Amino acid sequence: MTTSVIAATALDPRTMAAKGAIELRQVRKTYGDVVAVDGLDLSIKPGEFVTLLGPSGSGKTTTMMMVAGFEDHTSGSVLIDGRPVDSLPPRERNLGVVFQNYALFPHMSARENVEFALRMRKVPKAESRERAEAALDRVGLAGLGGRRPRQLSGGQQQRVALARALVFNPAALLLDEPMAALDKRLREHMQEEIKTLQKSLGISVLFVTHDQDEAMAMSDRIVVMKDGRIMQSGPPEEVYNYPLTDWVASFLGDTNLIPATVLERDGNLAVVDLGSLGVGRVRDRGAQGEKYAVSIRPEHLKFRTAPVAENGGTGELTSSTNLGATIRHRLSVGGHDLQLRELSSDAEAPGRRAAGPVHVGWDADKAQLLVLEG
Ligand code: ADP
Ligand code: MG
Repeated sequence: MTTSVIAATALDPRTMAAKGAIELRQVRKTYGDVVAVDGLDLSIKPGEFVTLLGPSGSGKTTTMMMVAGFEDHTSGSVLIDGRPVDSLPPRERNLGVVFQNYALFPHMSARENVEFALRMRKVPKAESRERAEAALDRVGLAGLGGRRPRQLSGGQQQRVALARALVFNPAALLLDEPMAALDKRLREHMQEEIKTLQKSLGISVLFVTHDQDEAMAMSDRIVVMKDGRIMQSGPPEEVYNYPLTDWVASFLGDTNLIPATVLERDGNLAVVDLGSLGVGRVRDRGAQGEKYAVSIRPEHLKFRTAPVAENGGTGELTSSTNLGATIRHRLSVGGHDLQLRELSSDAEAPGRRAAGPVHVGWDADKAQLLVLEG
């Protein structure tokens, strides 16, 4: 019974309001000539789940380590709940951290690994033990506290790391690619568990991943990074559907990019000349550059029953591949190789699609004018 009482005081969402505001102001980190993080401005609201998404080497880990206090920044400032923490050591920042490789002590049991976080904070031994048990319980490891890391599966080790990060009731959680070592099924399961845990604790999360699907599935907001800079940030559906550059569009998934000449634009809608595809009328978010293109996700390109006057064209089907839930069609339209995805359940039966020209089109609000970075 003691254990559940501890759980109720230490980790019960009812005792807590949303917490853990994190703010980065012009944070920069250089290693000699290498600019790892290039003047980042970012603010995370209490209870918000924010993901740094970018390819390897884009500065995600460095950013996280500077927030946690394990790396010094070259310039700029980090604030937690409104307070500058630049001169505070990691343990005084009140942040729970799960490192990419979990960083568990191999010679300690799971429980001792979790207790360690409390001992560092001078919590008395008996209380540490009870709180460690409660935290292990919370992440689904009840009864496994006596095992050493190597006696646990990858997923269980990850849970120990999570329990260790949560046990001192931190203001926010920082997670660096925590699912990278898990297989797909377990990864998806843990994604859901971490989301549930985060919501029930009302805690903010700074999450790091290079996996677009994971970022889409988990985040309130995605911050897309490249070369130590923020390329775009917004809710998942916004960065996916309305990317501002071809790089962001392509990094977040397959897309059709059609070079465009802008004829008219008003910040919401652009009229564009798509060359052999004629005129297009597409979404415009005001991105400015030298060269432009229109991006249409494969699932937003649709077969039409007749030729369209704008936002589409006529061509031929070059291949169709059944991927199970969806079918991927490749088409050649006006000299462009395009990809169209449809749900298998929506597709015509094999062989039923008439031979000859095919017509495709898209809805104006599903196509986005963006800048070609080239
Ligand atoms: P990510 O986590 O997105 O893969 P990192 O933050 O680890 O990226 O690295 C960003 C850049 O900083 C990379 O170019 C990397 O090589 C460089 N870098 C990171 N840590 C160090 C270090 N200790 N010394 C020198 N360069 C580093
Ligand atoms: Mg990293």
